[in-house]
Amino acid sequence: MTHPATRFSIRPIRRTEYEHVAKLSVDAYLAAETITPDDPYVPFLTDVEGRVNTAGVEVLVLTEHDDIVATVTMCPYGSDLTEVCQPGEVEPRVLAVSADHTRRGFAAKLVEGSEAWAQANGFTTVTVCVASHNEIGHNLYRKLGFTRCPDRDWVTWNGVILQTYTRPVPPLESVFCGRCGQELSAKDHGQCQAALELEPPRYCHVCKRRMVVQVTPAGWTARCKEHGEQTVAAN
Ligand SMILES: [Zn+2]
Ligand SMILES: [Zn+2]
Repeated sequence: MTHPATRFSIRPIRRTEYEHVAKLSVDAYLAAETITPDDPYVPFLTDVEGRVNTAGVEVLVLTEHDDIVATVTMCPYGSDLTEVCQPGEVEPRVLAVSADHTRRGFAAKLVEGSEAWAQANGFTTVTVCVASHNEIGHNLYRKLGFTRCPDRDWVTWNGVILQTYTRPVPPLESVFCGRCGQELSAKDHGQCQAALELEPPRYCHVCKRRMVVQVTPAGWTARCKEHGEQTVAAN
């Protein structure tokens, strides 16, 4: 997801970047005094490869001119890395901004990126756990419209109180016809809709990008490079 007219983008991490992101994450947590150097959470922060290789999980990086300035790990319901997720929810974890780039709004950008990721992957809610002593984190999520859910707070084995926030994300709005690519409101797409019962969409219904269609033994899949796999037909 490239932010138009800016030099920022959020994308999946590359293999060559694991070490850099591990260090960035630990340094960020240390600088924010969320952990101490001998904290039992350090091995989890540094194990970028382990997170990348967990089914369903995706590690994202925020880049500024190709430099990684922040990272977040998307942990959907059903994956092994969620703590409080319920069906339909995704839990961003290891949200870290490079200690050299704090107070530049990157944490908020990552949360926005997390919401976009949730939408694109069909999740309805973003859920986060914030350590009770992490004032910056609490202020961030409150400012961004998250709701406190005290009944879902929990305590780690070593006594850290984690407080839960959630924010619903609206489903992506269908604007374009998947077959002809014109706006759905522009004309009657009855014929297109009939055709889409039998063939994959050619256009993303959200952004009108050309879909990447793959024929599979079961039929086909169609993906937008921005909005993921789609099953929504024209309406
Ligand atoms: Zn159409
Ligand atoms: Zn799209």
